[in-house]
Amino acid sequence: MMPVTLYHSLSSIQADLASGAVTCRQLVDYYLDRIQQNQHLNAFVAVYADEARQRAEAVDQRLKEGKAGRLAGMVLGIKDVLSYKDHGVQAGSNMLSGFEAQFTATAVQRLIDEDAIIIGRQNCDEFAMGSSNENSAYGPARNAADPERVPGGSSGGSAVAVQADLCLASIGSDTGGSVRQPAAFCGVIGLKPTYGRISRWGLIAYASSFDCIGPITRSVEDAALLLEIMAGADDFDSTVSQSPVPAYSKQAASERPLRIAYLREGVESEGVDETIRQQTIAMLDQLRAQGHVVEPVTFPLLKHILPTYYILTTAEASSNLSRFDGVRYGHRSQTATDLESLYKKSRTEGFGDEVRRRIILGTFALSSSYYDAYYTKAQQVRRLIKEYTDQLFANYDLLATPVTPTTAFRIGEKTSDPLQMYLADIFTVQANVVGYPAIAIPNGTDEKGLPIGFQMMAAPFRESDLLAAANQLVAQPVNS
Ligand code: GLN
Repeated sequence: MMPVTLYHSLSSIQADLASGAVTCRQLVDYYLDRIQQNQHLNAFVAVYADEARQRAEAVDQRLKEGKAGRLAGMVLGIKDVLSYKDHGVQAGSNMLSGFEAQFTATAVQRLIDEDAIIIGRQNCDEFAMGSSNENSAYGPARNAADPERVPGGSSGGSAVAVQADLCLASIGSDTGGSVRQPAAFCGVIGLKPTYGRISRWGLIAYASSFDCIGPITRSVEDAALLLEIMAGADDFDSTVSQSPVPAYSKQAASERPLRIAYLREGVESEGVDETIRQQTIAMLDQLRAQGHVVEPVTFPLLKHILPTYYILTTAEASSNLSRFDGVRYGHRSQTATDLESLYKKSRTEGFGDEVRRRIILGTFALSSSYYDAYYTKAQQVRRLIKEYTDQLFANYDLLATPVTPTTAFRIGEKTSDPLQMYLADIFTVQANVVGYPAIAIPNGTDEKGLPIGFQMMAAPFRESDLLAAANQLVAQPVNS
């Protein structure tokens, strides 16, 4: 028997597993069928069908014996930047064509240890650089609400997979919005934790002082549970926090009224779609009606956040991606004549346009003549942005904004203008520049039926506040 309902959370699946209404094996077959029927969305770049079926049978067995882990029944997809031993990992790049992971990312291992079933690897922008999933060697993923439109990026395949019910949840990565922005474009939930909350071991690096792993789900409770299981100290990542992991999954609605600031520009700026502004105001009204204090704020450094982000992330990327040299990993040019041409040709052939652009920009920002003018300056501005953000959080628990200024755009619409593309991240990058947690939750649709997202950001390690407020706002299950 196939599951007849669309599941919105692991708890409803586990209730059916317990009553015998469904088995893990049936669930896996159901999702495999869905993946098959929705190949045009290009969400998955590899599907582990046999392996997932076998694991499902093993989990069913453990359920019978009463020995199953907390994620029994959770069928997950992982973004193509997360290492899973003996499985391919390419970061959406020809550079890593044919490359297989030698070890498993800590976050992924923790999920497997709790009996999650990994059904496949998901499409994304090359090395997680992009806001539309168009910079992928596998071609663009498509938005299930309108396949002519992008699902957002860089975790585009991961978001559309949840939107189209190809798996219950996905694990993505967020360096400047890559979990939250595609979640918003696809009408699902995306959580970026505090920097250092989840180990980055096994995550292919883009910009190491910004990168965070985060879940994409249909329910707040699933986001909380996945965070709880992935988070915490790890000997393999020296930047991960040692602070104890709260029981996020036990977090219900907030016990106290929260003080919520909202960014004036988010509801007033002409650059933000009219419907998004209205829906954001409606959400703020809802928070007010729930007893929270909701007040407008302005952020004086708003226009400096994106440039700071792009200088620092390209600088870090140019350094991180220097390891892809044609010698140690993936693509090696067949026409090289000496060592230098091997490096040059392998990198030119292996990397796509956007990745090359960023390596060049980053190398420039780090070059000796411009280091102080760009890199040092951007570090100073990063510090100022953090100070202003701290001041804000001295008075408020949460900062609310839309996730994006527009809904999902058409495939090809912004590819010729990188600056337009970068603007898609205007509201999401602040959380990464300062390292704070933020969540994207669905907030209705525009007149074309395209999903809108609402973002809340909290002070470091206050994921509980985010989840509490999100729990109150996402009362209804997230529809596809
Ligand atoms: N769109 C942003 C960028 O291209 C964010 C990417 C990300 O979060 N990985 O840098």
